Parts: sequence; C-alpha cells; structure tokens
Amino acid sequence: MDLMKDWELVIGLEVHIQLATNSKIFSGAATAFGAEPNTQACAVDLGMPGVLPVLNKEAVRMAVQFGLAVDAEVNRKSVFARKNYFYPDLPKGYQISQFELPIVGRGHVDIVQKDGTIKRVGVTRAHLEEDAGKSLHEDFHGMSGIDLNRASTPLLEIVSEPDLRSAEEAVAYLKTIHGLVRYLEICDGNMAEGSMRCDANVSVRRRGEEKFGTRCEIKNVNSFRFVEKAINYEAERQIREILAGNSIRQETRLYDSTKNETRSMRSKEEANDYRYFPDPDLLPLVIDDEYIAGVKAGLPELPAAKRERFIGQYGLSNYDATVLTGSKELAAAYETLVGLVGKEPKICANWLSQELAGYLNKENLEITESKVSMEQLAALVGRILDGTISGRGGKEVLEALWAGEAEVDGIIEAKGLKQMSDTGALEAIIDQVLAGATAQVEQYRGGKTGLFGFFVGQVMKLSKGQANPGQVNDILKKKLEG
Ligand code: ADP
Ligand code: MG
Repeated sequence: MDLMKDWELVIGLEVHIQLATNSKIFSGAATAFGAEPNTQACAVDLGMPGVLPVLNKEAVRMAVQFGLAVDAEVNRKSVFARKNYFYPDLPKGYQISQFELPIVGRGHVDIVQKDGTIKRVGVTRAHLEEDAGKSLHEDFHGMSGIDLNRASTPLLEIVSEPDLRSAEEAVAYLKTIHGLVRYLEICDGNMAEGSMRCDANVSVRRRGEEKFGTRCEIKNVNSFRFVEKAINYEAERQIREILAGNSIRQETRLYDSTKNETRSMRSKEEANDYRYFPDPDLLPLVIDDEYIAGVKAGLPELPAAKRERFIGQYGLSNYDATVLTGSKELAAAYETLVGLVGKEPKICANWLSQELAGYLNKENLEITESKVSMEQLAALVGRILDGTISGRGGKEVLEALWAGEAEVDGIIEAKGLKQMSDTGALEAIIDQVLAGATAQVEQYRGGKTGLFGFFVGQVMKLSKGQANPGQVNDILKKKLEG
C-alpha cells in the first residue's frame, strides 16, 4: 500500500482471555463450552436479588501467574468495581471488573520481528473481570435469544501500551500472548470459541510526527488473520479521511470479515459514562508476598527462558529459537526430534520450523495434528545427514510422508532419490563435464572463479540431481585447481 509510506500506524491491543477455571469467577456454575443454553447459569450469574458473589481462588492464581510471566508488578491490593451499562445479556445491569486498582500492573512482553530483532511491548495492566452472556440472533425468527451460560465466566483483560507500529507487530504480540497463556495453561487459546478475543485500537500519524492521532477501537476480532486485515483496513480508512480533510472521530467500530471492512458501531464512551464504583459485595482482594512467591515457584519454563536455553544448548539463532518456542507443543516436538537425530540441531530446526511448518500452515494444523511424526522426520533428517539423499530429495520424501506414506527408506528407494556417492562414478561425470567445457575451464583457471557454480550446475544436471553436492564440490575443486 503506497499510502503507508508517509504514515505510521499506532496500535494498542486489549486482549481478553477466558481463564481456564472449572467454575465461574463469582459462582460455582460450570464454565465448559458448548452446553445447552442457560443450563450453566446459577442465581448469582443471573443477578438474582439477595445473592452474593464469591471470588474464585483459581482465577486469582491464574492472573498472578500471568503477571509474573510478563514481569509485571502484582498488586498486593486490588479492587473489584461495578461497570454499569445496560445490555440484554447482562442481567445485573453492571459488569464486575477492576478499574482503578487492577491485580496486575505494568509489565512487558518481548516480541520477535521477522528480521529476528526483539521489540519490547509494554503491558499497561491486566485485570480480572466477568464475561457477559450471549445474545443469539439466529434461529429465533425476528426475536433474539439470550444464553447466560457465559455470564460470569472469568476473564483477564490484558491492555497493551500503544507501542505497536504495524499490523504484523500486532499479530506478533497477539501470538506471543497466545503462546504465553497456553504455556501457563491459564487459557486454552481457542479463538474460534471466543476463549481469546482482541480489541484493536488504531490511529495513524504522519511519519516524524510525535503526537498520536485519534484512535478508533475495533471490537472483538477473533483470529490472527482478521486482526491483521482489520488493522490495515482501518489505518487506510483513517489516512483517506485525513487526506480528504476530515478528522477522525474516536469511536468503536466492528470488523466485518466477509466484506473486509470496519463499520462504525457507536461513538466511544468515556470511562465516566460507566459510573464505576467499588463493588460493595466484594472485599478488596489482598494477597501477600508469600502467596506470590508460591505462585512463582510453580511457574513452568516460560517461552523467553526456553528461547534462551535453545540458543545456548542448540546453537540456534534468536529467530529460530523464538519460532520453536512459540508453543509448548512445538518446543517439545523439536526436542524430541533433536533427541532422535542426535546431532545437527540447526538442521533439525530448519526441517521442523520451515519445511514441516510449511505443510502445517497450509492446512492450518497444529504440530500436535501433524501428519508426519517426529520419528519419521528424524529418519528423513538422518538420511540427509548420512549423505543418502540431498536436501532436495528430502523435500520429496517429506511430501510423500505428508501424503500418507510411512517409511522414509521405502520412499527413497521408490523415488530413486539415493544420491550418487560412489566417487568413481562421480569423477567420471565430472571429467565429462570438464571435457565439454574447456573454454570455461581455462577462464576459471585464469581467475574467473565465479564459474565454479556453473560447473556444479552441469554436474548436477548430468547426474539428474543425484550427485552429492558436498562431494561434487570437493572433487571439482581438486580437478580444477590441482
Ligand atoms: P478503553 O477501555 O477506553 O478502550 P483502555 O485504557 O482499556 O481504554 O484501552 C486503551 C487502549 O488503546 C490501550 O491498548 C492503548 O494502548 C490504546 N491506545 C491509546 N491511545 C492510542 C492511540 N492514540 N492510538 C492507538 N492506540 C491507542
Ligand atoms: Mg477498550
């Protein structure tokens, strides 16, 4: 997009994650997804008079885990507040949230950009709150249904600083959060089921300008791809408005993925419209150092620590280590692969995070759903390392494995992928190539060493790609320079 050349995007994300507790944040009702409407809402969730909310201990523990994982201040005292608004799926007429004193204060996460450099993104805060119910507009012939199963499901809202500067960075941040909460096992990360949702705040400014522009908030975008598209659409819309002499109105917008556009939903409400006040039904939440230390001691190895370990232990680049530690499952698969192959961790990394990942991405599968097992991939890499097949041959083997064939050596045999590593036969081919290119040989010996690749190419061609490139290099060098 040419427009972007002179403009910079400023993005801050509000990410809601559904905490993976068994029961709701203020009641004992179950939180499982997919139950019949209104079978998992109790009197507390329905906002019946005379009931009292009781805070779920697990939800608190999970929030603290998150806070520790993003190096944030965990507040020893936090306060639940009522956020008042009317909506049919909110029977109490208010949502219990945290406002002035959230449980998690300032922290940060490191995201890795495409070029491998790390960018630190500020986390402003993360607070506990309850979810609302759902309005169902389909199947009710001119009416809406209300399902309160989701009412009072625990959420952690994670608010970022406006530190993100492109849609790709926003997606990288979101993926980092996604990976993190799954490492911690505090959220299943299922965006399609709404377990993780994102509001994107977007503004634009001319490059070089310091002042932020007016932001619009795009509500509830529920996939990585849509976040990227919605932000780019919205930024372009704002730039066009400004260029046309109009000003941007702070508002809440909806992203329509079928039309790929954002539409105005309502003008942005201010915090004071909600008449926040401390919830008189709930005492302030007070936690002490000992409690926090206990939570800290129970934390698993987190992505950042794992990344450092992968760099040190396996000699991986920062970029590779980050990709491979993006999910707990992928990291585990990598360590299985390296264990099986027993050497060359860098080559293992490439075959997993580039080659196999290519197939996974194409079919939108997780590593746990891979059609090729680590045992198979290890056998394949083993055959490359022992010189039986070339890297190119390896790609053909992988294609066959992905298509359902089981056995690496069988595929190599059937496809005739074995490299020529019989030195005698190779030498004969090389002699033939050199004899047919006397002029180039002379030029090479006269100093035009750039021709080396030409000879390699000829040999590979004559051997139908089956010559072992390492050996070709060695023999060619000897013959040309010896
Ligand atoms: P609200 O509840 O009103 O949306 P929050 O404080 O919860 O307010 O969230 C504001 C979000 O908007 C934060 O993620 C913040 O980084 C982001 N933000 C603030 N100013 C801008 C701006 N000018 N451009 C883009 N994002 C912004
Ligand atoms: Mg908001």
